[in-house]
Amino acid sequence: MRLEFYGAAGGVTGSCHILRMGSHTLLLDCGMIQGGRRDEARNRDPFPFDPAEIDAVVLSHAHLDHSGRLPLLVRQGFRGPIYTGNATRDLCRILLADAASLAARDAEYTNRKRRQSEDPVEPLFTHKDAETAISQMAGMSYNQPREILPGLTLVFHDAGHILGSGIVDLSYRSGDGSHRLVFTGDLGQYDTPILHDPAVIEQADTVIMECTYGNRLHRDREQTIREIGDIITAARHDRGNILIPSFAIGRSQELLYQLGTHHEEWELDRWSLFLDSPMAIQATRVYWEYPHLYDEEATKLRRAENPMPLVKNLRLTASVEESMAINRIESGAIIIAGSGMCNGGRIVHHFKHNIWRQGCHVLIPGYQAQGTLGRRIVDGEPSIRIHGRDYQVRATIHTVGGLSAHADRDDLLRWLSGFRAGPRIFLVHGEPDTAAAFRDTLVKDHGYDARVAEPGLTAELLPV
Ligand code: ZN
Repeated sequence: MRLEFYGAAGGVTGSCHILRMGSHTLLLDCGMIQGGRRDEARNRDPFPFDPAEIDAVVLSHAHLDHSGRLPLLVRQGFRGPIYTGNATRDLCRILLADAASLAARDAEYTNRKRRQSEDPVEPLFTHKDAETAISQMAGMSYNQPREILPGLTLVFHDAGHILGSGIVDLSYRSGDGSHRLVFTGDLGQYDTPILHDPAVIEQADTVIMECTYGNRLHRDREQTIREIGDIITAARHDRGNILIPSFAIGRSQELLYQLGTHHEEWELDRWSLFLDSPMAIQATRVYWEYPHLYDEEATKLRRAENPMPLVKNLRLTASVEESMAINRIESGAIIIAGSGMCNGGRIVHHFKHNIWRQGCHVLIPGYQAQGTLGRRIVDGEPSIRIHGRDYQVRATIHTVGGLSAHADRDDLLRWLSGFRAGPRIFLVHGEPDTAAAFRDTLVKDHGYDARVAEPGLTAELLPV
C-alpha cells in the first residue's frame, strides 16, 4: 500500500492524494488550486497521474479546494465512482456549476484581451464536465461501511466542518495483513453551531491530517459573537453598511444562524439584511434539507422555526437586478455576499460602492489565502484595485477569528487525543510555516510520529 501526496502538500489548496494497493488506485480528493492568478493557472497543468488509471475517488467534502478538479478528471478519462456524502453531492452540484460558469467567463475575458495571433483559450471545464462528475458520485451516509475496491472498506465519519463533510476511514485487508488509513479532510471546530463535533476515532495506523490552523488558536466563539454585536452597533453609529464576504457554503449558514439567534439582542429589525449570493441561497436550501445532520440545538431551533429562512427580515437576492438595487443603500444594510476570499462575485461590486466610505464596516469571517483581494484588505492595504480602478480603503476592517470552519491547534490536538495509540501522521493542508510549527508541537510536545507531506512525497504503508 503506497501513499502519494500531490496537492495541499506544501500548501493549503488543491487537496489531492493517491493511494495505491496492488493493481488498484484510489484518489483522495481532487481539489482546485486557489489563490492568485498564477497559482490558479496551475489548475490547467496535466495531472501527475493518468486519470484513466484511477479506479475510484473518495471525496471528503464539497469545498472547491477538495472537489474542484473532478470535472477535469472526468473529462480526461476517469470513469469510476466518486464516493462521497449525500449532502456533499448536493452541495457539489451547486459549487461545480458555479465554477463552470466562472471558468466560462474567465475564458471569455482572456479571449477578448488576446492578440489575434494567439489561439483562443478553452474554459478550464464546462457545465457538461461538471454534470458528468456529479453523475459519477455515489452518495453515502455516515457510519455505513462499504467495500469500494477489493479488500478496501470505506466509512465516512462526521468531520463537523461543513454539511456533509467526512473524515475518510479506509481499512485495507490483503494476504499480508491489514492497514487502517484515516484522512481527516477538513476538521471542524468543536461546538460549531448547526453541526456535530468532529467524530472520535480510536484506532488508525496512518493519519493524513489537515493543519490549516495548526499554529493558531481561534478567538473564543462567545467573544467573537460579542464582537459581531459590537460591529453592528458601531456601524449603526457610523451610519454605514456592513459588508460580509462569505463562503457560500458553511460560513453563510452559520452567520444566518447567529443573526437569527441574536436577532433581538442586536436589534436587527432596524437593519435590512441581504443574503446576496445565488449560490449561498441554494446552499442554504440544501442545509435545510438535511436536518438529520444537525446537532441538538439546531434541531430544536428548526422544530421551533420551521419556515425558511431562519432570519425574519432577511432578503434572498438571487437576481442581478435585486443585487444591483442594494448599491443604492448607503446605510443600514448588512450584506452577506460571495466570494469568500473576495476574488470575484458580488462582494467586489459592494466594495466598489462602499469600501471608500468612512462609515462602512467590513466583517471578514473567514480565511483569506495569499494572493487574494481579501488578503490585501486584511493586511491593511490603503488602496485596492477593482476592475482596473483604485479605491481608497476608508472602511473599518474587522477580522473575526472565532467563526472558522476549521479546527484550531487545540481542536486538532483534542481530536488526535481520541486515538488509543498514536498513529503515524502526515500533515497536509497547511501553509509551510504552519505545518512545520504544528509538526514541532506534535513531535516535541506530544511525542507523536509526525511529518509534513511535501508535494511529491511517497510513503509506504506496511501491513500490520
Ligand atoms: Zn473545507
